[in-house]
Order: sequence, then structure tokens, then C-alpha cells
Amino acid sequence: MSGALIAGIEAGGTKILCAVAGKGGAVLEQARIATQNPDDTIAEIQRFYAAAERRHGPLAAAGIASFGPLDLDPTSTTYGCLTGTPKAGWSGVDIRSRIASIIQAPTVIDTDVNCAAVAEMQAGAARGLDRICYVTIGTGIGVGIVESGRTNAGTGHPEAGHIRVPRALGDDFVGVCPSHGDCLEGLACGPAMHARWGCAAEDLPEGHVGWAFAAHYIAALCTTLTYTIRPRRIILGGGVLERTSLIEAVRNAYRDMTAGYALDRYSTAADTFIVPPHLVDPSPGLVGALAMAAGLADRSKAA
Ligand code: ZN
Repeated sequence: MSGALIAGIEAGGTKILCAVAGKGGAVLEQARIATQNPDDTIAEIQRFYAAAERRHGPLAAAGIASFGPLDLDPTSTTYGCLTGTPKAGWSGVDIRSRIASIIQAPTVIDTDVNCAAVAEMQAGAARGLDRICYVTIGTGIGVGIVESGRTNAGTGHPEAGHIRVPRALGDDFVGVCPSHGDCLEGLACGPAMHARWGCAAEDLPEGHVGWAFAAHYIAALCTTLTYTIRPRRIILGGGVLERTSLIEAVRNAYRDMTAGYALDRYSTAADTFIVPPHLVDPSPGLVGALAMAAGLADRSKAA
């Protein structure tokens, strides 16, 4: 341990978590900043890190776990920029470069769900496994995928929340996705549940048909991931999954949908294949951002 410090930032649509940690990931200081317009928000992040560096010393690297969509193609001229986000004022913002100019150190960026997948694989619900998926069902639906410790093998990050899924029997809801209407996110994210049932998911009574629909749609995603990615574990997080009975309903619907076809020794055991997250505080996204920053600090030092 060199004693170098790292920065981890988890940028969400409503709040931004900023942390300073040792390279082992132990958080020394953390702050929560409301996501306002980009200039005011980034100025507040700058104030936090300027004060933190005075107290703790210089930072060797930064990791950002961000909402998206993001341009994550390192060869692109807009690498590290938010692309087409519905969050007002943030579309096109070069979030990676603006944070890097504050920290004045090498800075890496990935999606919040990819960072969460890295964290759960290194220190959480998928420890010891390779090739895993982290799914969040909340304000939106996001999927992070990590294999051999790496994310984004292609030129961008997964957008598996926007796939088409088969309708649950009796469901004629039009969906809430501004781009696709009744894609998976449009049918099953938290705001979709609120729009169709007239109350937040957390207020929907146990046994309500809305939970059967939610289980159907999330199981359809798990089935698709199983047959395409072939993960060894799928972790289901996010606000909608705070209803603890939902995960068992998802496992049952997944068993029905896959009908045992072409499952491997991981995906056939639904109880251990589809699991809740282990990491809660700090959040898996922040833990993953810090892990990526620590890796970058090591590589920068070795270079
Ligand atoms: Zn969509």
C-alpha cells in the first residue's frame, strides 16, 4: 500500500455521492450532493474535493459510476460524455473530463450498473465468480455485465433495460418509456408501476397482480440474459426489489419460462443464480467506482 488516496463518484439523476478512500477502498470521507444543473453540481463537487485534499492529501486517481447513456468508446471524440440523457441540461456533458480537471489525476468512467457489477463480483454477492450480471429495477432498468474483471468489451455499455419482452397475460398497459413505450423499462420500472397502478411500488399490497406482472417481466430479462450472456449469477437490486417477496416470484417465473432448456449448473439453480445484492452502504456503484480508481492508480504508477 503506497498510501495514495483515490476518489469515487457515483452520479445519479437525483444525487451524486462523492468519496475519498484509501486504495483498499476504506472510505475516509463522503458527501451527498443534489444533482442540479451541470455547472452548479460540478462546482459543488469541486468544493468537496478541494476541502478533502486539504485534509487528507492529494488524490492519485478517480473513478466515476454514472447514470447514462454514456459514450464509453475510448476511440470516440465524445468518450466519457453523456449522450441523449433525458436528465435536463446533462445531455452532451463531458462528465469524465470535467471531473478529471477537478481531481487533476487519471479518471475512469463507467455506468453505475457496470460499477455495481464489478463491486459485487469483487466483494459481494458474486465473489469468486466470473461473468456476472447486475440488474437494477428502480427509476429505470439498468444491466451491468462484467467478465474477467472487465466491462464493456464492445464499443458501448449494455442497454438491456430497453429490450422487448413478451407481454404478461392480461397486461395492456401502454408503457412509459419515452423512446419505446412498452419496452421492458417502459413496463416494469418503478415509474411504470406507479403510472399503471396509481401508487408507488412500495405501497402496492402483497398479492396484487402488479407483483405477478413485475415478476414476469424481470424473469423475462433474466431468461434473455441467461440465453445470451450465459452469466454465472444475476444480482437483482434497485428500489422495486426492496419488496423481498418479489425475488422468489421472479425465480418461479424464470423456472417456468426457461422450462429447464439448455441451462448449465449455475443457471439451473435459480435460488443461487438469481440473488439480491450484498453491498448496501457504501452502495455497490460507489464501491465499484473506487475499485476502478484503485486499479487505475496502480496502472498509472506502474507506467
Ligand atoms: Zn425503452
